[in-house]
Amino acid sequence: MAKKTTTIRVHQIAKELGVTSKDVVAKCSEEGVPNITNHMSAISIGLAATIREWFGGDAGGGTAVQTAAPVDVKQARAKAKKKATKRTAAKAEAPPREPPAPAAEEPPVADAAPPPKPAGPPPSASRGTGVIEPPSRRTAEPEAPTGPIPNEPARPDVVAPLGRKLDEPKKTTLAGPKVIRVEQPENIRAPRPKGPPRGGPGGPGGPGGGPGFAGGPPPMDAPDRGRTSRRNRRRSGAADNKTDNKSGRQQQQTGGGQRNWREQDLREREQRLSRSGGYFRSVRRDSAKKASGPTGSKAKSIVDLGGSITLPEPITIKALSSASGVKTRDILRWLMNEEHEATINSTLERDVAMECMLSFGVELEVIEAKTAEDKIAESFSDREMKDERPRSPVVTILGHVDHGKTTLLDSIRNAKVADGEAGGITQATSAFRVPVTVGDDDHIVTFIDTPGHEAFTEMRARGAKVTDIVVLVVAADDGVMPQTIESINHAKAAEVPIVVALNKIDKPEATDGNIQRILGQLAEHDLNPVEWGGDTEVVRLAAVKGEGIQDLLEILDLQAQLLELTGDFDGPAEGTVLEARLEEGRGAVASILVQQGKLKKGDYLVAGRGYGRARDVVGDRGDRIGEAFPSFPVTISGLGEVPDAGDRVFVVKNQRAAEAAAKERIAAERERSLARERVTLDNILDHMTEAGKKELPIILKADVQGSVETITASLAKMTNEEVRVMVKHAAVGGITESDISLAEACGAIVVGFNVTATGKVRRLAEDNGVDIRYYDVIYDITDDVEKAILGMLEPEHRIEILGQAEVREVFRITKVGMVAGCYVTSGNIKRNALIRVTRDEIVIENDRKLSQLKRFKDDAKEVRSGQECGMLIDGYDDIKEGDVLECYVTHEVTPGT
Ligand code: GDP
Repeated sequence: MAKKTTTIRVHQIAKELGVTSKDVVAKCSEEGVPNITNHMSAISIGLAATIREWFGGDAGGGTAVQTAAPVDVKQARAKAKKKATKRTAAKAEAPPREPPAPAAEEPPVADAAPPPKPAGPPPSASRGTGVIEPPSRRTAEPEAPTGPIPNEPARPDVVAPLGRKLDEPKKTTLAGPKVIRVEQPENIRAPRPKGPPRGGPGGPGGPGGGPGFAGGPPPMDAPDRGRTSRRNRRRSGAADNKTDNKSGRQQQQTGGGQRNWREQDLREREQRLSRSGGYFRSVRRDSAKKASGPTGSKAKSIVDLGGSITLPEPITIKALSSASGVKTRDILRWLMNEEHEATINSTLERDVAMECMLSFGVELEVIEAKTAEDKIAESFSDREMKDERPRSPVVTILGHVDHGKTTLLDSIRNAKVADGEAGGITQATSAFRVPVTVGDDDHIVTFIDTPGHEAFTEMRARGAKVTDIVVLVVAADDGVMPQTIESINHAKAAEVPIVVALNKIDKPEATDGNIQRILGQLAEHDLNPVEWGGDTEVVRLAAVKGEGIQDLLEILDLQAQLLELTGDFDGPAEGTVLEARLEEGRGAVASILVQQGKLKKGDYLVAGRGYGRARDVVGDRGDRIGEAFPSFPVTISGLGEVPDAGDRVFVVKNQRAAEAAAKERIAAERERSLARERVTLDNILDHMTEAGKKELPIILKADVQGSVETITASLAKMTNEEVRVMVKHAAVGGITESDISLAEACGAIVVGFNVTATGKVRRLAEDNGVDIRYYDVIYDITDDVEKAILGMLEPEHRIEILGQAEVREVFRITKVGMVAGCYVTSGNIKRNALIRVTRDEIVIENDRKLSQLKRFKDDAKEVRSGQECGMLIDGYDDIKEGDVLECYVTHEVTPGT
């Protein structure tokens, strides 16, 4: 049936409405309807309904188009009438089927009756069939309305309503907002109205509302108003853009044109969706319910947290998917794109999981798996103070190298020894207490005995906060230097107040002008001196002479009082390990700073991987003090294992509690070290390929600056299209712990050229899976690196260091040569092994043999660690006190082994 057609042409509807195609086109253009340009333009069924309303004044329409500018309907009708009169003159004779209606009172609908329609079917023709008769029959129509005025009878004729009514059923189904939306220039699908079509259209309520629209504006309820105004905005926005319609109403509604209404629409849509608790929420809600699946996770629903989820460790992909509603497939795809290897059963690192979730717009909070140690720490975190009292401040000395930190510390310590303090402060302790007398009061200041920000930062990195005040040493002859700034930044980051010690004030360079310049530099870094009206104390001193030390102590004491530092002098102790070592006869010994509570001999302790009973509590003067209180530095023995600096120490109820915590820590450490695969020059290519990296990181240490430069340049040249050789750090000197840490952090190989590493550093490298390569020929380095890049390393001669011995004394024995009196510091020295001489960790002689190895007066095959011996190196006399002789063998090692 023709009515099922979804589009009709302009001329068809014009004909139907009794207007010209031009009128329809003009009206469409005025209303901003695009693509209606001529009589053949296609009109969708929805637009047709609208056009009918425009020209026909449909009472039941109630669509947004009613907000359009008034149509010059009268003019259009008059035109149409004229034409109709001309064309259908014959119709005048046709007998009226129904009594004529009074022309003047006729509703607009009747006015618009299209005369070209069949003038009226025979009486038998049923109304509403909509059958249009062929023109031939039309011309022969005998029953035209009669009357003295030709067009008068035609109007009330049933034919006109008949034609219009034929369309009504169609119009009813299409009328309303949804139809009009189809006509919008942008193809944005509107939400389907849930309820039945609303009867109350947004009428012409505005100033431009035409009087010709049937029904008029019924009062609008609030939601209707919202909807209508949105529709209107769209319409007028479109009209504005495309046809520059200047009607007052549209002007008012245009806003920012299409883009605005689109954004507005999207915003409203979002709001609507969020109000409706839409699809995504329901998906997430459902998923969150499932989240308590295999991991037994207590994931909180995203619905409750508004876009964030919480998961306990370990985080599996399944749990992540369940909790977030993100498909496992999508998570895996993300991981793959980010070059993380994972399968559905993988557990994810917390950071990776968080990053992954963020990429899906979900905020993930990870509940750290709590260890026994965490639980102990937690129980201490909200301790009930039993005996709260003021405690002494704990001070750390920071500053640029050579500005006098060590001298200042020594000076403070020695000043007090010279003052006749009982016992003196032992060198072994990592912190010491210094008495300060201010007026009648005797106070104490505790100093941490490890100058430099590395130790300070390392402690902080491990979550330990031991320092209350930082003394920043600045040399008056030098001023603020890079490490001074670093120190300032570290102290600021730790939110620790700074007292400046302006040192070397005795030097001639420490002129007033120079000092003022330094004060200015300090002020630039937010350390505005008190003498300049700021609040940073600057104490002038000459550490080397002990001048100004008392002033500094007093200022520190004052600062401590301002900080109102207190601690609990009773209850179980807690503190931080400052340093720990293995001592012969004492086992694991830890220097601890007590921070809360009372530490007694016999307490059960847990300190990182170490646990046990405090066998003795020794003070900073080497005296067994039995008890220690907040801000007391002590050394304790009795721990089974050596803890790390920065580990927290807790006194627990019994051995079992201590053991459980420590063993958990040991197991976790083992797991971590097993998981960490050693990156070596042999397998670095595989690692790089796996990680999708294109960088071969190297840390280079060499004997002289010339070597550093040459090797760095040669390595840089080896960069090819596939692999970039990156020297992450290059410096003169032996391989240090910090080189190993850096190598570990960036997965680098450490290359030592004519330098060595101490036993401690080598152990650290071993523990952390860092590969150290020693070389004495530059070509060998580049050759190895090149082969590593190509994945074709040949067997190498790898050095295995068997032992190290320190030269304590050198004897010249006539006719024999220089004999080195040594102390074996690590491993064993073997008579037949190779020997190399190192000075300040730099190799100065290689591949020598021992011509003599003596223990006391006897020849020895082997001398062990902790023993003394005499060594004579074959053909080499240039031995000096302090040199370290390394005993080693070389192995041929196949790459990858
Ligand atoms: P650190 O690297 O910051 O620990 O600096 P040191 O304490 O090792 O001192 C570096 C050099 O500066 C040493 O030679 C000290 O003797 C010297 N020095 C330290 N304090 C003073 C001082 O107050 N006056 C003078 N003239 N020299 C000082």
